[in-house]
Amino acid sequence: MTALPIYLDNHATTRTDPRVVESMLPYFTEHYGNASSVSHRFGWEAGDAVDRAREQVACLIGAEPSEIVFTSGATEANNLALKGTALASRAKGGNHLVCSSVEHRAVLDPLRRLARESGWQLTVVPCEPSGRISVEAVENALTDRTVLVSIMAANNEVGTLNPIGAIGRLCRDRGILFHTDAAQAVGKIPIDVQGDAIDLLSLTAHKFHGPKGIGALYVRRQDRRARLVSLVDGGGHERGLRSGTLPVPLIVGLGRAAELARVEGPTDADRMRTLRDRLDRTIRSLLDDQGIVLNGHPIDRLPNNLNLSFEAVQGEALLMGLRSIAVSSGAACSSAEPEPSYVLRAMGRDEQLGRASLRFGLGRFTTREDVDQAAKVVTETVARLRQSASGGSAPDPDLAWNDL
Ligand SMILES: *Cc1c(COP(=O)(O)O)cnc(C)c1O
Repeated sequence: MTALPIYLDNHATTRTDPRVVESMLPYFTEHYGNASSVSHRFGWEAGDAVDRAREQVACLIGAEPSEIVFTSGATEANNLALKGTALASRAKGGNHLVCSSVEHRAVLDPLRRLARESGWQLTVVPCEPSGRISVEAVENALTDRTVLVSIMAANNEVGTLNPIGAIGRLCRDRGILFHTDAAQAVGKIPIDVQGDAIDLLSLTAHKFHGPKGIGALYVRRQDRRARLVSLVDGGGHERGLRSGTLPVPLIVGLGRAAELARVEGPTDADRMRTLRDRLDRTIRSLLDDQGIVLNGHPIDRLPNNLNLSFEAVQGEALLMGLRSIAVSSGAACSSAEPEPSYVLRAMGRDEQLGRASLRFGLGRFTTREDVDQAAKVVTETVARLRQSASGGSAPDPDLAWNDL
C-alpha cells in the first residue's frame, strides 16, 4: 500500500504539466525582475513575458490581451467580477443579481454577502434534474433592475454544461452583464467570449495543468464595456483592477498552460471522453447495470467528468473502501466544510444517493490502465458493501482490500 493512489480528482486540481514547470523556472532564477520596472533589462524581460502570457490566455478564449486581468485564481476572479460590478453599478439604480443554485461557493458566497450586507436582491435560479440551467429559467428571473447574471459554464461536480451562449445573448439583449465561472470549462471545451456574448469570465490555471495560485478575469472592453471597481487597491497594476506585484513565474505558467490547452485541448478532450466512457461502461457491466444512477446531463457534460451514485450503499463506507483511488465523493466534499453535496440535492438526489456518489475527474495524464483499475476497485467495493448490507457474509473489509 505504498503506491500512490490513482489520481482521478482532476476537478479538484490537476498535475502541473512538466512543460509548464519548465517554462516557469527561468523566471524564478534568471529573469526575476519586477514586470513594472521600466528602467532596466530585468524589468523588460519580465514585462515581455507577462505580455506574452496575456496574449496566450486571451487567445484561448477569443479575447484581446487588454481584457485579461491576472488574479490569484477563480475565487478571486469571481469576487472581483461580482463585487466589483455591484460596487460600480450601485449608483445607477440597479438592485438585482441572478445566479444558479449549483454555482461554486466562490460565486454563491460573494453574492450572498452582497444580498446580506449591501441590500442587493438575489434570485437563485433552480436547475433541471440534469444540473442544467435553462435559458427560460434565467429569463424568468430577470427584472428591469437586474444588473448582472452569473451562470457557470460547466459544473464542477457533475460536469453539466450550460447554454451560456444563449444566456449571454439574452443578457446582451436586455442590457445586463453576463459573468460565467469557466474554471472547469476552459481547456476542456471551446469557449469564445465573442460568440458566447460573455462580458466577464473567470478561469484558473490549476484546473488545466497550470500552477496553483494564478488565474484571470476576462473583462469585456470591446463593443460594450464591463465596468468594475477594484477590490485590491495599491500600485494600480492590471489597469487599476488588481494591484500587487505580478507573480511573473506563475503568469508565465498560466500562459504556457493556456497555449497547451489551445493546441492540445481538442485531442485531450477526445481521449478523455473515450476513457470516461470506458470507465462508465466497465463499471456498469461489472455491476450488471444494477443500481447505478448517472448524475449530470447524459450528453451535455464535460468530456472528463463521470459522476455516479450507487443504490444500497453507504457513502462513508464507499469512500473508506476506495483508498487506492483518489476521487471525490458526495459523502465528504472537497470544500473545507464536509456536508452532503448541495449540487446533488438541488438536482433532486435523496440523502443516500447524494452521499453514495463518486466524482471521477480525468485529466491529460489519465491512462487506460488507471481507468480499468478504478473500475475494478469501485465495483468490487460496491458489490462487497451491498452484500454485507443485505446480510450476506461479507469478508473483513481490510482483508478484502489487501486482496485487490
Ligand atoms: C476550482 C473552482 C473554483 C476555484 O478556483 P481557485 O482558483 O481554486 O480559486 C471556482 N469555480 C469553479 C467552478 C471551480 O471548479
